[in-house]
Amino acid sequence: MNFIIQPAGGEAASSHYAKTILNPIKISDIAAHLSRSDLNKLAELHPDGVVYIWGVTRKGSNPSRWGNFVPNSVALFTGRNHLLASGVITYSIHNPRLAEDLWGTDDDGYPWEYMYFLKNILPQNIHYVELRQILGLSEVYPFRRCEVISRDNPMILEKLSLQETIDEDEDEDETATEEDYQTAVKELDPSKPLDERTSVLSRKEQSFLRKHLFRKKVTNFCGICGKEYPVELLVAGHIKPRSKCSIDEKLDYKNIVMPVCKMGCDDLYEKGYISISKGKVVSCPDKYYTDALKTYVLKIHNLHCLYHSPSNEKYFLWHETNRLKK
Ligand SMILES: [Zn+2]
Repeated sequence: MNFIIQPAGGEAASSHYAKTILNPIKISDIAAHLSRSDLNKLAELHPDGVVYIWGVTRKGSNPSRWGNFVPNSVALFTGRNHLLASGVITYSIHNPRLAEDLWGTDDDGYPWEYMYFLKNILPQNIHYVELRQILGLSEVYPFRRCEVISRDNPMILEKLSLQETIDEDEDEDETATEEDYQTAVKELDPSKPLDERTSVLSRKEQSFLRKHLFRKKVTNFCGICGKEYPVELLVAGHIKPRSKCSIDEKLDYKNIVMPVCKMGCDDLYEKGYISISKGKVVSCPDKYYTDALKTYVLKIHNLHCLYHSPSNEKYFLWHETNRLKK
């Protein structure tokens, strides 16, 4: 996920901030400067008819940075040594006329023409010292210019109170179809670095698997410890590790995954501290068990795996053979 550091403390920026971030702008008031397709898009993305707007000039590397202001990036408005507010980017356009109409031009005559629209503006009050820690920036990071920071740490969203934003995104992903899943499975190559497209594919894959396992359920049972948990504490865990599966095995979604809890079972299974043998939980004799780990594993040892069946037996067998008897 991209976080856009957006300084808003300078003289001109402060007035833009007051005009188009602290206060929403009616889409109808700016319609004269927008193309038909931009208008349709904004109406769809902002059904309440109002938008928040920001823009940067063409100076320096701004235009290439603007290319990273993709939907669902989080803009972080900074100034007076604090994070002042955050917002979620919905859409971006290059539109000098609209920019000039909204904010005029800077001292060199440039409008803030590389623009983006936002929703969910949230007032924040976090000092730079803490903000640097949250974002994993150096202790002297200056927050002086527009910068794009790529981070995939869900803790950042939690610390900035932005989880609700993410929940909305997950809802959108709930629409992932079996076709989306097949495309994702076929095109995702774990040996290549994640870029924007592959991270979308990866989200689609996960969301389809979650939809298959959980539907609209609020709670479900862990396949290993058998305990009931809210579905947000369960993952769609591959019985045979995803990285070892052939395409056909990955496409066998009805058999290749089961719900596994994040309370310990997911990691223990993935790292081979436990496995399922003939439908029952077993521990691994080769692993080093601390007392705490022994206590955990003893409680689940020999439990019957709820999701074990003849049709997924081969995947469990792979795990048992390759993870345990090494
Ligand atoms: Zn569990």
